[in-house]
Amino acid sequence: MKEDKYCPNCGKRLSFFYMKPNCPACGVDLLRYDYEGRLQRDAEQAAREVESLWRFVRKIDKARLVERHCLKKGRPLPWEDAPAEEKREG
Ligand SMILES: [Zn+2]
Repeated sequence: MKEDKYCPNCGKRLSFFYMKPNCPACGVDLLRYDYEGRLQRDAEQAAREVESLWRFVRKIDKARLVERHCLKKGRPLPWEDAPAEEKREG
C-alpha cells in the first residue's frame, strides 16, 4: 500500500517519491514545517501532561482540606469506610 504525502501548508497531494524539501505548489519548507508541527504537538502534549499533574495536585490539596475539616469536626474521612473513632472507643 502506497502512502500519499500531502503538503502540511496548502494540502497539495505530493508523490510518494517526491523528495524535494519544498512544496511545488506553495514552496513551504516541508521538512522544517513538519519539524515545527512536531514541536508544536510536543509542546501541546507537554502542556496536557502539566495540566493533568496540576489537576492531580489540586485534588490532593482539596483532599487535605477535607481531611483537616474532618479532624477538626471529629468526623470520619469521607473516603474511609470504617470510622476510626468506633475502633478507638470499642
Ligand atoms: Zn504546499
